[in-house]
Amino acid sequence: MLTCDFLVIGSGVAGLSFALEAAAHGEVIVVTKRSRDESNTKYAQGGIAAVLDATDSFGAHVKDTLDAGAGLNHVRAVELCVREGPERIGMLQEIGAEFDRAQATAHADESSPRLPTSSGGLDLHLEGGHSARRIVHAGDMTGREIERALVEAVTTRRTSASSTSTWRSTSSRSRSTAAPRCAPARTCSTSSTARW
Ligand SMILES: Cc1cc2nc3c(=O)[nH]c(=O)nc-3n(C[C@H](O)[C@H](O)[C@H](O)COP(=O)(O)OP(=O)(O)OC[C@H]3O[C@@H](n4cnc5c(N)ncnc54)[C@H](O)[C@@H]3O)c2cc1C
Repeated sequence: MLTCDFLVIGSGVAGLSFALEAAAHGEVIVVTKRSRDESNTKYAQGGIAAVLDATDSFGAHVKDTLDAGAGLNHVRAVELCVREGPERIGMLQEIGAEFDRAQATAHADESSPRLPTSSGGLDLHLEGGHSARRIVHAGDMTGREIERALVEAVTTRRTSASSTSTWRSTSSRSRSTAAPRCAPARTCSTSSTARW
């Protein structure tokens, strides 16, 4: 019988981010229904928004998000996501996600070159619904880069955590309502503590 301290179902950005944090506190098993990187996260082509520029503010990002959501948003969830955005992007960079960096070249919507302010050198874009430059990209495959970095971090334990993490793939025919039927994908020894 498999036992663990934390059972994570799903290997998208949410599940893998949680798995990395939880691994600092105990053994983690990640159960996913297909390959370890199969997720909506991998297919997200656009960028991710966060307040990273000195001229931007949490208040402005919250307002833009509520306006775009026509007031249907859960306000506390919006505030939480906005406030944690910069830290989460920093975490992704720490584990190896490579985002586009600003060049001293003019953007199509600008007449003069733009250099980063407090963005840490990231190339921040202005996109629909946003009143400030706050969209971070990895080309037009941002999600794929995030998923790559997270899978690698969970696999190789590129984190300060020292506990074990284990991957399991459910049968492709299993249903989410059924008890998980876990089968090991394979075992590897990329580190002394992580196993597939
Ligand atoms: C084409 C596309 C473009 C997008 N563009 C953007 C963008 O530009 N910017 C942006 O911020 N967001 C974008 N999104 C949305 C973004 O990808 C999602 O909001 C985000 O990836 C959700 O992450 P998640 O971890 O919650 O879910 P997911 O990434 O979907 O992960 C869910 C995980 O659960 C697993 N799972 C599901 N059911 C089961 C089961 N029964 N048993 C076991 N495992 C299961 C899946 O296999 C998967 O690993 C886009 C999405 C798509 C599809």
